[in-house]
Amino acid sequence: DHRSAAADLDLIHHDAGLIMTIQDIFSVRGKRAIVTGGASGIGLAIAEGLAENGAHVAIIDRDEASLAEQNRALRERGLTIQALKADVADADAIGEAVAGAVQKQGGLDIIFANAGVTGGYGPISGQGGRGRLESLDLGLWQRTLDINLTGVVHTLRAAVPALKAAKAGKIIVTASIAGLRANAAIGYPYTASKTALVGLIKELALELAEFNIQVNGLAPGPFKTNINDRRFHDPVDAAIETATVPQRRLGEPAEIKGLAILLASGASSFITGTVIPIDGGKTAGS
Ligand code: NAD
Repeated sequence: DHRSAAADLDLIHHDAGLIMTIQDIFSVRGKRAIVTGGASGIGLAIAEGLAENGAHVAIIDRDEASLAEQNRALRERGLTIQALKADVADADAIGEAVAGAVQKQGGLDIIFANAGVTGGYGPISGQGGRGRLESLDLGLWQRTLDINLTGVVHTLRAAVPALKAAKAGKIIVTASIAGLRANAAIGYPYTASKTALVGLIKELALELAEFNIQVNGLAPGPFKTNINDRRFHDPVDAAIETATVPQRRLGEPAEIKGLAILLASGASSFITGTVIPIDGGKTAGS
């Protein structure tokens, strides 16, 4: 119908006088999406948020057991997704997985490049100097960059042709507040990888603007996910972290859904090249 057709277009294209509801403005219904690192934490919450709102979702993850478990759990809730195994650090594997998802869904409108790993301790982390530059494990440095940075490049190189073919698209990269300002408790590989993503997001936004593809980043603060298990399992570490957050708590994965849908829907039709913190106020100051 006229209204849903209009909702499929960016807001600037809608007829003057047509009433646009929140459901229209933020609609992802019928959109075809891919989420990497979608078998856990933030990526899983993003995949759920999209599927709950009528998008076709493929999750790609390297963890086969989690993929199977989450796929089953989502099906039990009546949400059908496609689950594909691939390591984003492997260009051929992620290329095949993206191509497979695009073929099955008949195209691509939205991609979340979200998979990431922690990459060790920071220089001042209470780990007995294990995170200092002189002790930096160069193998770990390379592996972290291969996943967190080059993995995003592999993922987006595979996805961009399908987004161009759709003549519209949304790219959302999960960066981190660690990419916006330094935190000596967080390791060099992670901080460097997330800071580099901020540059990648901006450069790609410039390249793809003419194709009606918007490129933005999420910069989560501390969220309760597996990635933080080691850091926040210790109640003292969790309390120290919480004390740096003005809202005095860690984020719940489901709290990512609103920002994810904003950036994946027509609601963000004039937003590109930005990285938006979602951090309980942590980057605002302390
Ligand atoms: P998580 O560990 O719960 O989930 C990460 C998922 O990515 C896992 O399912 C894992 O198997 C998958 N993954 C890891 N490496 C992969 C690879 N090479 N190929 C394919 N899949 C891979 O962690 P999370 O907190 O949900 O992390 C998601 C993203 O959010 C990461 O990029 C992380 O850096 C970022 N982030 C998290 C926080 C936080 O506090 N949780 C803060 C800022 C940024």
